[in-house]
Order: sequence, then structure tokens, then C-alpha cells
Amino acid sequence: MTGRILVVDDIEANLRLLAARLAADYFEVTTASNGSEALEAMESNAFDVVLLDVMMPDIDGFEVCRRIKQSPRTAHIPVVLITALKHQSDRLRGYEAGADDFISKPVDDVELVIRVRNLIRMKRAMDELRMRARTGQDLNLQMSEPELQEPVTDASVFLVDSDPASVKQIEGYLAGHFTVISEGRPGRAVYRCVEDDPDLVLINGNIDATDPLRLCAQLRSNEHTRMIPIIFLSSQRDKRRLIKAMDIGVNDFVEQPIDPSEFILRCTTQVRQKRTSDALLRAMQETVEMAVTDALTGLYNRRYFEHHAGAHIARAIKEGKFLSLLLLDVDHFKSINDKYGHDVGDEVLVEFAHRLRRNVRGLDLVCRYGGEEFVIVTPETDQKVALTVAERLRAEIAAMPFSVVGKTEKIPITASIGVATLQSTDETTASLVKRADQGLYSAKNGGRNQVQLNLIDPQDNHCL
Ligand code: GH3
Ligand code: MG
Ligand code: MG
Repeated sequence: MTGRILVVDDIEANLRLLAARLAADYFEVTTASNGSEALEAMESNAFDVVLLDVMMPDIDGFEVCRRIKQSPRTAHIPVVLITALKHQSDRLRGYEAGADDFISKPVDDVELVIRVRNLIRMKRAMDELRMRARTGQDLNLQMSEPELQEPVTDASVFLVDSDPASVKQIEGYLAGHFTVISEGRPGRAVYRCVEDDPDLVLINGNIDATDPLRLCAQLRSNEHTRMIPIIFLSSQRDKRRLIKAMDIGVNDFVEQPIDPSEFILRCTTQVRQKRTSDALLRAMQETVEMAVTDALTGLYNRRYFEHHAGAHIARAIKEGKFLSLLLLDVDHFKSINDKYGHDVGDEVLVEFAHRLRRNVRGLDLVCRYGGEEFVIVTPETDQKVALTVAERLRAEIAAMPFSVVGKTEKIPITASIGVATLQSTDETTASLVKRADQGLYSAKNGGRNQVQLNLIDPQDNHCL
């Protein structure tokens, strides 16, 4: 994975060293020797990661990081602070400024490449989610981006470690920050993760009997656990193994012996990222649902109908199957509104929609076409069956008057239905709807509360 990286350091030798190491792994590198230069470079370039020295003369790394994170244009770009790990207060200040990760000085080759690759991968996944969520915003739907730096509370960590002494030690480090669930038998880890749905999984590289990387791969391929971040705890710095772990989808690694404060920060970062991506995913799903659902009845809306009816018709034509379309309109609905009020009218529409849904098959597409008009696409249904279905629906509506909240009186409702069946390979959604609409018009003219089939050849016109 390549990417564009901005490296910022006031010491020329450091810049050159970092740039050379990254270029050797085929990253595109831009350098800046102070904070102002860095911010200026970010104005005109789209970077995937910023590596930022903390100690710089004019604007220090914390301030540069804060400004990057405050600007909506650059807030999503991961920032790695390069700092002396010994200074825990630096790290805390870094996180407060919004830094995504930190690398200790002197910079280690393996760590640098692994962390940069990982951040780029994470950024790309998040960019994709944001882009999709923004599509929803473009459709004028309400969607707010979740808070990126909200505090992490009530998080649970699942620890896979078969050494009781090590479990105890790690539990000690995390006490007060996370709830720890531990599993000593790696063979049961995937199953238990599915059950417990933790916010983070820690895998000790020294677990017995099972290859820890295989366990990571299993967690990544299981649909219930594939989104849970994994931190790999490793006692030896084996570059190939760590890179492999990252390729499998491990999110971060922590070297043993563990530095407790760094450990907590890394765990917190992973949980926070997971919560952000979860929130984006949820927002995206809601956006998609809102975009295709009618808010009053919960049926699919016209937009969804327009999009999917065409696909159903194309498939029926391709496979030589039958397909019919029903257009339904409530009779004299205006007088219901006039007599009982708009709210009662709404209730009638909701109940009407329920009765339609209850009386068709799962594969039939039921949509609110607009106002008090509904449309149903019934795949694999010829005209005879379509007429039976339409007649059943008509009877379902007419037979039982509708009850409404707060009224003992029940309201008699009827509907008129136009039916059209796929008759030629040239047909489209528009041609089917048009014919169903003509059928509906005949049904209204014929006295309402009836079904009319409309065929292309008027000689075949069929009235029930
Ligand atoms: P017809 O038998 O010829 O279909 O007569 P109709 O009164 O049902 O038809 P018309 O098209 O004249 O009136 C439809 C009414 O449906 C007018 C509109 O105010 C009402 N309507 C449309 N959408 C809604 C809605 O969401 N809620 C309610 N309560 N009324 C709606
Ligand atoms: Mg009507
Ligand atoms: Mg109408």
C-alpha cells in the first residue's frame, strides 16, 4: 500500500532520514521544516498521513496538530506525533491535540512502516464511509458526523492469553479503564468473541497450541467479529511477522514488556476509532433506509420503486418469466380527510399499507406510489394469478371497516385497482404503470371498489 506522506521536522538530518526510509517502501514523501510550512503544504495537497515532530521553533507539533484537526478540510487526515516516549505528558498532550498515533524517538524502521501503512488503510476505509454518508446528506437527509474525539467509556476488552500470570498483569494495567474478559483457550476465542461482542481484542503472541496469526485471520473472516479491532502483543520484534499480522487486519501492536500508559492509550485509540466507524456505518444505514422508505407507512417509497421495478422487469424479460403490476388507489379518500381530519386519514393509510403487506408474498414489492396510491410488483405472476391477488386485496380492504384511535365508529374503505401484466420484451416500468393506470381509471369510472386488467390488445380487455 502506498500513500502520500507529509513529514515535518525542523532538523534537516531527521527529515532526510525519515523521507529515505519511507521512500524505500514506495511512499510518496513531501517534507516541511517547520509548522507554518507544513500547514501551507496541506492547503494545496491531499496527504494520507502527517508525521509531525513535536519540538519545533515557531509553532510546535501540538499546535500544528490542533490546527489540522480543527479544520474540517484536514481533520480526517491521520497525524502521527514523533516524540520521546519517555515523556508521558507529551503523549497526553498529543492525544488532546487530536493526534492519531505516536512514534517514539529514535524512530524504528519496522514500527514506522507498520504504523504508517496501518493509518493509511484506516483512513481509506473511513474516507469511503464518509463519502457514502455524505451521499445521504446530498439527498438532503439529516445526518450528523459523530464526534471524533468523544471520551471512551464502558469499553470491554477481550484478552486471549493462556498464561495466567500475564493475564493478571494485563488486567492490572487495564483496571479502571476497561472491563477485561479473558480467555485462555485460543480455540474458544472466536466463539466467545461472537458471544461477548467486545470493543477490542488483545491477542498475546505467545499463546499456546494455536498460531496467533491464524486466530487473527479467523476473527477477521467471521462476519460477527470482523469489525472488532485487534491489538497484537508481541515480545519479539519480528518485522515479517508484524507486517503479516497487519496484512491480516490486526490494527496495532504493542511490544512486551508493556509500558502501561502507552498500552492504555493504544487501546483507547482503537476503541475510539471503532466507535467512530460504527457511528458512521449506522448513520449510513439510516440514511439509506430513510432514502428508500416512506415515513408514514414504512413501505418502500416511489424512489425505491422506480429503481427496483426496472430491475425486476428486466430479469423477468431475460428469464422469460411472468410479472404483473398492481396500482391501487383509495376510493373517495379526500372525503375521509374532510370528514374525520387529516390524522385519521393518515391512520387509514397506515392500516391500508399493513393490509397490503400482510396479503402478498415476501418477494412482492409493495410501495407507496404517492398520496393514497400504492403500487405492487409481483414477480413470477401471470395475469390470472395477478387478478386473483388483486381481487383478494380489494376484498381484504372492503370487507373489514378500518378502526381508528379514539373512535368507536369504524370507517368503511374501498379501493380501486388497475392490473397490468408483462406482455412483450419491449415493456418498461413506465409502460406497465401506464397500463395499470388506465385499468385504475376504468375501475374508478366503473363505479370504484373493483379490479380492472389492462392488456395491450384492447380486444382482450378483461373486466371482473
Ligand atoms: P378517488 O376515489 O377518485 O380516488 O377520490 P379521492 O378523494 O381518493 O382522490 P383525490 O385524488 O381527489 O384525493 C386524494 C386525497 O388524498 C387528497 C390528499 O389531500 C389526500 N392525501 C394525500 N396524501 C395524504 C396523506 O399522506 N395523508 C392524508 N391524510 N391525506 C393525504
Ligand atoms: Mg383516491
Ligand atoms: Mg389518487
